[in-house]
This record gives sequence, structure tokens and C-alpha cells, in this order.
Amino acid sequence: MPVTDTVLPDDQLDREATLAKYLEERDKRLRAEGNDQYINVTDEFEHYVEDPYVEAVEREPLNDEVTFAFIGGGFAGLLTGAKLKEAGIDDVRIIEKGGDFGGTWYWNRYPGAQCDTAAFIYLPLLEETGHMPSEKYTHAPEILEHCRRIGRHFDLYDNAVLSTEVTELEWDDDAKRWIIRTNRGDEMRAKYVGVGTGPLHRPKLPGIEGITSFKGHSFHTSRWDYDYTGGDPSGALMEKLADKRVGIIGTGATAVQCVPHLAKACGELFVFQRTPSSIDIRNNHAIDPEWFATLQPGWQKEWLENFTLLQTGGFADEDLVMDGWTDISQRIRDKVVEHPERGFGPEALQQAYFDSDDEKMAEIRARVDEIIADPETAEALKPWYRQLCKRPCFHDQYLQAYNTPTAHLVHTDGKGVERIDETGLWANGEHYELDLIIYASGFEVGTDFARRSGFDMVGRNGLALSEKWDEGMLSYHGTHVRDFPNAFIVGPSQAANLISNVPHNLTERGNTIAAIINHAESVGAEVVETTAAAEDAWVDRLEHGGRRFGGDPTCTPGYYNFEGQDAGRRGTLNSMGYPEGPVAYFEYIQEWRTTGDFEGLEFT
Ligand code: NDP
Repeated sequence: MPVTDTVLPDDQLDREATLAKYLEERDKRLRAEGNDQYINVTDEFEHYVEDPYVEAVEREPLNDEVTFAFIGGGFAGLLTGAKLKEAGIDDVRIIEKGGDFGGTWYWNRYPGAQCDTAAFIYLPLLEETGHMPSEKYTHAPEILEHCRRIGRHFDLYDNAVLSTEVTELEWDDDAKRWIIRTNRGDEMRAKYVGVGTGPLHRPKLPGIEGITSFKGHSFHTSRWDYDYTGGDPSGALMEKLADKRVGIIGTGATAVQCVPHLAKACGELFVFQRTPSSIDIRNNHAIDPEWFATLQPGWQKEWLENFTLLQTGGFADEDLVMDGWTDISQRIRDKVVEHPERGFGPEALQQAYFDSDDEKMAEIRARVDEIIADPETAEALKPWYRQLCKRPCFHDQYLQAYNTPTAHLVHTDGKGVERIDETGLWANGEHYELDLIIYASGFEVGTDFARRSGFDMVGRNGLALSEKWDEGMLSYHGTHVRDFPNAFIVGPSQAANLISNVPHNLTERGNTIAAIINHAESVGAEVVETTAAAEDAWVDRLEHGGRRFGGDPTCTPGYYNFEGQDAGRRGTLNSMGYPEGPVAYFEYIQEWRTTGDFEGLEFT
């Protein structure tokens, strides 16, 4: 939208100019290829996804049967497994391609990795396992250890199958069992399957010309090569980089956390930036055990509900979590209260959101000026988009890292890296000679289920899930899919869709699945399946209910908005949540599972 000639009040004039700048910056970055600008990490790129942490242990192929098999050993599998065990379903097997539990926290061991949501709500089952987070925002090694703790506490290791990738998952309608085939030659059967392969599970590489020609070393941030760099996941100095020229491509949430460590260690560091992230204050601190001991039983549920309520626009007497997420909502609420003349309808809420976002982004840009010594670098690090267009980042050392004389920001003004050759890479027409290229280029999000998961799921009458979801996800409650009996999808979509704290979605899903299996087993059912009518009605309600994640067309491209492409109905279906929001969904699903009717499911 151009800045108009009409005479506008000062604050509105600023808004118009800011929005014009947002659109100008967005347009520099829009690419016709959308998601296709990235490389699928197969064939010659396969080594980028190999497990660098654990050697797979030789074992005989399995040919057996379990009651519940879960694919994915991250929080989705751990939480579903834990809830099933609590409900008395003991025969649970988690199948995981990594060498241990942890999912994203198994793979992401880059230096500085840390949760961006407060540990008291992000780390699930804290009361059950008796763990006190050491910091408000815990670092990755502690999170990985917590995943293991859950595994041990609920005896999930006993029957787990690790370093094993599912290759085929097929429903046998005669036997009423799922057949699970793997890359280790297994052919297991399961009465029920759960699928929780995660939204950010498969690394992607930028499709930069010449990417295979580089003769130096390279890796993706989710497969950090400490043998090459030295150091370790706890953040010890990467002493082997002292004489190296290192390039890192990407400046998303991952790069923001590892760049400060690289800046300390590298002979020379070059950070290739296409779009700057928004970097707000972190304010991390250690947890006081005396204070922790004062928390009363049931505290974690209370904290989860308080966070979700406040983060999604509700009112509560107290903000228990007090972090960047609840701060965003608090500011919006304050603006609503400041302007009673606007009323309290959706338009007033939207206006309040714009006001608070303009203020917040101005603060974030001012913070860059306060921290960065070099004015040109400061200008390049300023984000020109609304805070929720991309994953908001919070860090107290990232911007500061650019004041290190050996750390160089290479701002490509939306163009990205031009080309890679044998000795380094090209950006802004200049060649950068490098020993190491680190790809902080993110993960596949908008691509189809089979490509992201590495296997397809074949339901009744040979129907593949990728076929059923060709035009987007179709489900009942985000969990059940017609023609895929006894199968349970575990993720945020078509349900609460609470992106700011994904484990909360998974905890509730675990509770729901445990209740369903308990009921199915108690009535002696062989098959549990959603009715076509329930699935249709659910999809229809959500699709026309208007609550969708990442739909702002003025946003700069990224995985939050399908790289700025119109993803059509598919995009809507894949990213939509319960129309009344996460709090209402959690209330709805709790009531649904406790009434015992399980309306919309058939038990036969
Ligand atoms: P992202 O997808 O957020 O970032 C990828 C980066 O690569 C972007 O900066 C992108 O630029 C850049 N890029 C892509 N192609 C090129 C190119 N050709 N030249 C130059 N740059 C390029 O991936 P991340 O791994 O950083 O984060 C993914 C998600 O993982 C986060 O959004 C978050 O949800 C999660 N995460 C969570 C953390 C936590 O909770 N603590 C920590 C880290 C990650 P552009 O922006 O222009 O597209």
C-alpha cells in the first residue's frame, strides 16, 4: 500500500510509512518457487541427515506384535506413551529413527540451543518426574535429559526400537492390525498406531547453485559435527575453529542461538543473512530451589492453563509465566483497555494488535541501534515486518556478537547467497573463501506428509494418507482420519493449534488417546474409527471458523506463510485450529473424553 497524499494524523502517517516499508521489504523476498527453492535432503544429500551422535546397534529384525506402536520418540511419542502407561496400557512400543528419545532435542545439539518457551510449561510431566528446571529457559542438554527421564520414569525404553526408520505403514483389514516395516528389516504388527513425527523434523537445504561443488566441510545445524568444530552441546569453546573461516547460511531462531558461540570461536565468521530475525530481550535466570519447593501439587496444569489463557487474549489475575509470549498479549489487552471508544469487537482487537505490534517492533529496532556499534550493520539487522510474521526470537548475546571484530554480517538484502563453488560462496557479487559452511536453513514444514515423514501411511482399501491429504489435512479433532482405523495423529493442527507451547497440545492429545484406548479395550472393540460425518463436520467447522495460523498477506515470506505463496485450501486445512481458540479446544476435548460417549467415533 503506498503512502497516501491525504493529510493523516502523525501516528497514522507513521503507520502508513511503516506498512509501506514492510511491503517493500516483503516484495524483495517473494520468490515464485516458494517451498521449491529448498532441496529435499535425499540421494546425494542423504549424508546431511545421518545420525552423527550414535552408531546404530546391530540387531535381528523384529517380527512381533504390540498393542500400541508409536512412530516418533519426541515429546509426542513420550507423552502419548506416558499417558497410555498411566492408564494401564503397558504394551507400548516407540519406534524412533534417532539413537535415543528426544525428537527435535535429540537432533538439535548445536551450541546455545535452548527452549524459547519457559521451561515450567515447555517441559512436560515435571510433577510426575519430580524434575526442577535449572533455568527459566533451559538449554538443550537438559531438555534431552528430561526426555530420557520421561522414558525411564514410564518404562518406555523397555520395548522401544531406536535407530530405526519406518519405511511403510499399512493397515491389514483382515487381521485388523497395522503392519510396520522399517529400514532394519522389521515387520511388526500393532493393534493401534500413533504418529508424531513433528512439524520441524526434516532438515532442508537452500537450493543454491553449485551447492555440491564445495570441497570444504559442511553440515546442517541439526547434525552438528563436534568432531570438526571441537566444543560440545553444553557450549564449551569450539577450539578447533580458531584458525577457520566459517560461513553460516540463515538467520532464523537456530542461527540466533548458535552465532554467539561461533563468534567466540571462529578465526573469521561470516553470517549470510537474507532476512533479519526480530530479537527481543531474553532475561533468562536460574531457578531458586527454595521457591520451587513452595509450588503446590497441580501447579503445572495451573501454569499451562494460565499461559494459554493469557497468550491467546484472555484475562487472568496473575501472569505466572511472564515471558515474551504473554508480553505480546498483555500489550494488546492494554491497548484494548486504553481505547474503550473503539469497543471490544474483532476490529478493535485487530487495531489493538496493530498498535502494540508497531510499538514492539519499533522497540526491537531501537534495541539494535543501542547494541550494535557499526551503524551500517545495525541498519541491516533491523526487522521490517510484524513480530508474528516470523518466529519471534529472544536473545541477549546474538546482536552483541556482531561487535566482535572477527564476526561479519553479510547482509544480502533479501537476495540470499548467489552461488557456492569449490572454495566458498558468493554473495552481493563478492567471493568468500571458507573452510566450513553451516546450513542454518531450517526444516520442511509446508511439504506433504510422506516427504516430511519419510514414509506414507496406507489405510483401508489401499488409500494412502498422502492421497487423502492431497488437498490438505482432513481429520476429526486433528487426531482421527476416516479410513485409517486405530490410528492417531499427534500434533497441534486442526485442534488447539497452540504454536507458542507445542507440548501443551501433545499432553492433552496423550490424555485423549489414553481415554479412547482404555474405552476400546474395556468394551472389547477391535476397531476404533471416526465416522465420515464427524470428520466432514469437523473440517467444515474449522475451515469456516476463521482461525488460521500464518495468514497475514503483508508478511515477509518464511515457513509461517508458505514462503509467501497462496497455499489455497491446502494451506488453510493444514494450518487451521479450533475456531474458538486453544483454551476452548482444551475445555471441549476434556469434556468430550470424560463424558465417555466419544461422539464421532465408532467402536466395533
Ligand atoms: P528457519 O526456517 O527459521 O530459518 C532458515 C533461515 O535460512 C532463514 O533465515 C532463511 O532466510 C535462510 N535462508 C534460506 N535460504 C537462504 C539462502 N539461499 N541464502 C541465505 N539465507 C537463506 O530455520 P531455523 O532452524 O532457524 O528455525 C526453524 C524453527 O525451529 C523455528 O522457527 C522454531 O520454530 C524452531 N526453533 C525453536 C527453537 C527454540 O524453541 N528454542 C530454537 C531454534 C529453532 P529467510 O528468512 O529470508 O527465509
